[in-house]
Amino acid sequence: MQYVNHITELIGNTPLVKLNNITEDIPATILAKLESFNPGHSIKDRIGIRMIEDAEKKGLLKKGGTIIESTSGNTGMGLALGAIKKGYKMIVTMPDKMSSEKIDILKAIGVEVIITPTNVDSDDPKSYYSIAKNMQTKIKNSFYVNQYDNLANRITHYETTGPEIWKQTKGKITHLVAGVGTGGTITGCAMFLKKKNKNIKIWGIDTYGSVYQKFHQTGIFDKKEIYSYTTEGIGEDIIPKNVDFTLIDHFEKVTDKAGAIMTRRLAREEGILAGNSCGSAVAGLIQLKEQLTKNDIVVIIMPDHGSRYIGKVYNDEWMKKQNFI
Ligand code: PMP
Repeated sequence: MQYVNHITELIGNTPLVKLNNITEDIPATILAKLESFNPGHSIKDRIGIRMIEDAEKKGLLKKGGTIIESTSGNTGMGLALGAIKKGYKMIVTMPDKMSSEKIDILKAIGVEVIITPTNVDSDDPKSYYSIAKNMQTKIKNSFYVNQYDNLANRITHYETTGPEIWKQTKGKITHLVAGVGTGGTITGCAMFLKKKNKNIKIWGIDTYGSVYQKFHQTGIFDKKEIYSYTTEGIGEDIIPKNVDFTLIDHFEKVTDKAGAIMTRRLAREEGILAGNSCGSAVAGLIQLKEQLTKNDIVVIIMPDHGSRYIGKVYNDEWMKKQNFI
């Protein structure tokens, strides 16, 4: 009989799919790595179970314990798969800008969700980081995962996502494009890929309202760069330990509007119903297309599935309200 023993065994080995219509006028081969093929429909399944097992090994998480995390939604799902497998309770804090689909999905798989205000400083006691951190001190036998500074995050991508991309492209990849949230994906993949071939270009996709691009260019953490934006999962108002800026060749900023419109085009022109940050990554690549030649092989990480954004980028009323269409 052919079966796996648990849903978490289906994590990873996601497919690469060539983009055709949207990238028609780009001479390079553009391949999308569809992380929505993970069982929890996002790239964060990879780090969820891995960060739990790392905490167990370090004695930070014990039988019957509670896992706490601050998340834009996907990491909560990834962790929940691991928590279900291992019998832990899970609580997440989530900023109120995140899609209601993400909140309902987490509740559906038994996660307690605490919604926090988006428009507060990261060090404000009401921020989703602070509330999660505080809870750890109050709940006995609990573990705050902290995907931002927990280096098991980027190591997961160094050990799985990076090698998969190398193998799938037979080592021919020339450019990696990935949205940067915690920085785990881009840094872990870059650590592996640059070790194999230091000439591979690593392009990070950032949002307007995030500190990353300016910090990369100048080394200055400029609070004036921070304001709220609608794109979920990428851009930050902190510098997480998972980001290694020396491995990232360039940060490209993409507007909320350009990302949202490209997300809708991916569905209609490529048949790929992808998440909002996938559209941002493709839009960012197109902004950089002059730098590509016909022999280039570009891999774009597509972190999650469009079903999480049906009430947002795929909803005409929401798009009109944002003045995107
Ligand atoms: N896109 C989405 C939808 C995400 O949830 C995340 C994670 N915050 C990212 C992109 C960025 O991935 P990473 O945290 O590994 O930088």
